[in-house]
Amino acid sequence: MQAGVRRGRDAKICSMTSLPILSRAQVTPIGRARGLDEDGREDLARELANAVEGEVRFDGHNRMLYATDASLYQVEPVGVVIPSSVEDAAAAVRFCSERGLPILPRGGGTSLAGQCTNLAVVIDVSARCRHILEVNAGEKFVRVEPGITVDDLNDAIAGTGLFFAPDPATARHASIGGCIGNNAAGSRSVRYGRTSESVIAIDACLADGTRVEFAAGSARRDARVAEITRRVVALVRKNEALIRERFPKTIRRNAGYGLDMILQQLDKGVAEEDVNLSPLLCGSEGTLAMTLGAKLALHERPKAKALAVLSFATLDDAIEAVIPILATKPSAVELLDDLVVSLARANTEYRKYVELLPAPPGGSGELNAVLYVEYFGASEAEVRERVDALKQACPASPVQVHTNATAMMNAWKLRKAGEPLLHGVPGSRKPITFVEDNAIPVENLATFVKELRKIVESHGTRAAFYAHASVGVLHVRPLIDIHDEADRERMRAIAVATADLARSLGGVMSGEHGDGRVRGPLLERYFGAEMMQAFRELKLIFDPAGLLNPGNVVDVAGDSPRPVASMTQQLRVEPEPGRPAAFGSVETSFDFSDQHGLDGAVEMCNGSGVCRKKQGGTMCPSYMATLDERHSTRGRGNALRLAITGQLKLDTVGEASQPDADVWSDKGTMQTLDLCLSCKACKTECPSNVDISKLKAEYTSQRYRRHGVPIAARIMGQIRTLNKLGAMMPGMANAVNASSLVGGVIRRVLGIDGRRTLPAFSRSLEGMWDGERDAKQSVDRPRVVLFGDCFTMYNESSIGMATKRVMEAFGYRVELANAGCCGRAKISLGLLPEAIDEIDATLEKLQSVIEDDGVVAVLVAEPSCLSAFKDDWLTLKLKTPIVLRAKLAKKSFLPEQFLHAAWEKHPKRPAMKAPAGRVLLHGHCHQKALWGASSSADMLRRVAGDKLTVLDSGCCGMAGSFGYGEKRFDLSMQIGELVLFPAARGMTAKDVLVAPGTSCRHQVHDGVEKKAVHPMVYLAGSLA
Ligand SMILES: Cc1cc2nc3c(=O)[nH]c(=O)nc-3n(C[C@H](O)[C@H](O)[C@H](O)COP(=O)(O)OP(=O)(O)OC[C@H]3O[C@@H](n4cnc5c(N)ncnc54)[C@H](O)[C@@H]3O)c2cc1C
Ligand code: SF4
Ligand code: SF4
Repeated sequence: MQAGVRRGRDAKICSMTSLPILSRAQVTPIGRARGLDEDGREDLARELANAVEGEVRFDGHNRMLYATDASLYQVEPVGVVIPSSVEDAAAAVRFCSERGLPILPRGGGTSLAGQCTNLAVVIDVSARCRHILEVNAGEKFVRVEPGITVDDLNDAIAGTGLFFAPDPATARHASIGGCIGNNAAGSRSVRYGRTSESVIAIDACLADGTRVEFAAGSARRDARVAEITRRVVALVRKNEALIRERFPKTIRRNAGYGLDMILQQLDKGVAEEDVNLSPLLCGSEGTLAMTLGAKLALHERPKAKALAVLSFATLDDAIEAVIPILATKPSAVELLDDLVVSLARANTEYRKYVELLPAPPGGSGELNAVLYVEYFGASEAEVRERVDALKQACPASPVQVHTNATAMMNAWKLRKAGEPLLHGVPGSRKPITFVEDNAIPVENLATFVKELRKIVESHGTRAAFYAHASVGVLHVRPLIDIHDEADRERMRAIAVATADLARSLGGVMSGEHGDGRVRGPLLERYFGAEMMQAFRELKLIFDPAGLLNPGNVVDVAGDSPRPVASMTQQLRVEPEPGRPAAFGSVETSFDFSDQHGLDGAVEMCNGSGVCRKKQGGTMCPSYMATLDERHSTRGRGNALRLAITGQLKLDTVGEASQPDADVWSDKGTMQTLDLCLSCKACKTECPSNVDISKLKAEYTSQRYRRHGVPIAARIMGQIRTLNKLGAMMPGMANAVNASSLVGGVIRRVLGIDGRRTLPAFSRSLEGMWDGERDAKQSVDRPRVVLFGDCFTMYNESSIGMATKRVMEAFGYRVELANAGCCGRAKISLGLLPEAIDEIDATLEKLQSVIEDDGVVAVLVAEPSCLSAFKDDWLTLKLKTPIVLRAKLAKKSFLPEQFLHAAWEKHPKRPAMKAPAGRVLLHGHCHQKALWGASSSADMLRRVAGDKLTVLDSGCCGMAGSFGYGEKRFDLSMQIGELVLFPAARGMTAKDVLVAPGTSCRHQVHDGVEKKAVHPMVYLAGSLA
């Protein structure tokens, strides 16, 4: 089957080497800087590398990895700097300033309006400028560098009982610098306000590289600040009437520059020298100054919390309830509409959460909208009182109240799934982010929703409404096919009409996510020409040469506002008739039809940056260890998208024997993919289910098809044969491996790092298994089949024997299937045609087991082999019919998973000993991604009870053959050090470390010289 191009040949990701949206004023300085051709860039990169200590990346590949944020846009930057410190960031600003180069400060790059994409030198402070400088619990403030994320900050200061309150949904991966840049706020803004309300002072770097502090009174200490403050205050006074008239009065407002916040200070009688300009930087989208540090106000963590969930028959009913609810002083009121609820009902994972909600009163009792009302309080009594007030405020609505932390977390799950669920809307129209940010006075919210629905429907589409009802911010996402010009025309028309509607109701079109490229063109329509002129004057006070994030918020050329048409220019995805045909159709080994083909699959990443989180879950181990955008799932998704769709200037390896060969052998893309561990975590943890391990395997396979398979990959792919040979004379094979001479040769040929031990061989499991005797002795017992994976067969046959012993103790007859390999090694190495042949052969041998209903389960001790059965085998284009594969997937389990799942049905339940010490479980990454660590933990808990601790250890760092690689050993160890190694080192003699994955056990051995055991070995040892 051909991996079809979505919408035939008309779809293309546009090439962004052209089309900068800079005005004349910004083009001039770039021109002065020797142009932007490759030679000019190389010179610049060299000079910049001398001027800063950090990393300078000006090559085409790395530039393009910074061309996107979480918005619809893509603009190739001039280059990227990753400063080593905030001083280094200031040095980079100075360098750019002296050469007239535009500058784009960047944190997590999670902006939704396109403000973090530009033709500029990107200064990424997220990796190394992330220190906490001072925590003052007494005075409730903290000083931080700009790259630290909100959650990292709050985790670090948890012991103080205080927290930084603004809570954008991206708090795990959004930086403080970015929160200031976007004036971020979240669900609880009704109680704590926006970032601007928590910023006390900003350590800023002006466009010319001068460092200043913006704080109350800093004008008294610093002549430069005094001058800027004097001019800003004069500008505000001059435009006072206009500011009062034009600025929205909503709690959430994030359009233009926050001149109203300066006027508020003057209204309070603050003297000019004491005016604090730091709030003005909030929401300025990196256009006024670069934030190098901030002093932030902290709040006390609530002592008690409650979450009330209310169901409604209609969206209107829900919105009408908001005003009475606000009188009860909630910390958050969040809305989900009928579209999201219906998507949740259709989703296997989220249906249960809808079913748990109370039926709304009246009519058919059908639930069409939900409000989540949260209360924070100093005591449980206070919170209870508020909930009682809520019940009185909404007497007709059934209310479900949660006060237990787990119950609250579970209840929030449906609200938090709102956005990801929308991405699952079937069809080519998707919920697009462009009118998602309106803030409307709550009393007008019902009218806004009614009228906006009419606007959207008049353009032949529909929209979902969800988010922060408490402050009138609704994330409205109309369904639009961004590839289609007619829909893009609809998009522009809906955007203009929505902005007008918001204004007519006293609201604003940018309430939370800012203006950027998508709403910048609407600013003049909203504020009027005079106010825009004031914004331009403000920009020139701070940045006279127009170098900081040029073209955003205002265009200092001063001629005309950016046209509405620009809203749909420089999109990541644009129709392009000239797309090279070679990229359009390619024979793939995986089936990508459920993602609209291979190029649909590489477009799945929406840039939201969840894969840049540093704690919780497994995605993405290489980012967690390196903090490098390039080594995040997003970096890899972007690299693949850009390479496959022909947008990268390719730098290829080998001879190009076919017209599209270069696409598959681009060095930059290969290097970006190289540190992916193929752990599968992104397949399930990424909200858009971007599956890099599958894409990496396909990309590598396409290269091999065109350029041939390297010898090391060929040998590594023969893991079963190699293990089988080793298991024939395990003692001798192990001695040979351990010898420095032969071991050294093996390492050199296979590219294995010298610090790694090679896997040991055991006697073959088949040789130890007496099937005939078993068959005679257990003829009446239910049958289970143990699949003989390569490791259980030849490296650790004790696991197979332990499985047999335990299963027999539970009353089963255990048969061994020595059916061949699952293909895992070949799949991970990208040897896909070879894997397909091998898997079909294995499936043929397993056919009788699959069809025999007397076999109640097929047990696979190694999780990465089971993941092949249950995941890869279902999407590879095998010859074996899919029904057979699906039947096998359904009856296949980890042995301990089966023991727990079929607990009530076992013929026997033997007594088992409780452990003497703790039992620590490190789950394998494939297992965690596909079935959760509970697939081992549930059974272990039956034996170990609360002595079991499930480590939040992500990936061990070994991931099959990944950690053996010479260039990967250090990273592999760094990943191990994140959680697993410290936990293993902390074990006492009585504790046991259980790890189902063979590579994880090997990693523990190499990393901390401790022994980890398979769950079945642990369970066998626990049999009384
Ligand atoms: C799924 C999703 C949900 C979101 N939910 C919310 C939400 O609930 N509330 C909300 O407010 N936003 C939300 N956002 C938008 C965004 O995540 C936040 O505004 C976040 O605070 C941006 O942080 P960042 O580090 O990613 O900033 P970036 O995107 O890196 O930068 C944001 C802006 O600030 C500038 N900037 C960054 N660092 C600096 C610096 N050091 N100095 C000067 N300027 C700088 C950039 O140039 C850019 O203009 C959401 C985004 C997504 C994808
Ligand atoms: S890979 Fe997934 S989690 Fe990462 S940015 Fe893309 S969509 Fe978000
Ligand atoms: S497979 Fe694992 S390592 Fe690779 S991108 Fe996904 S989460 Fe990261």
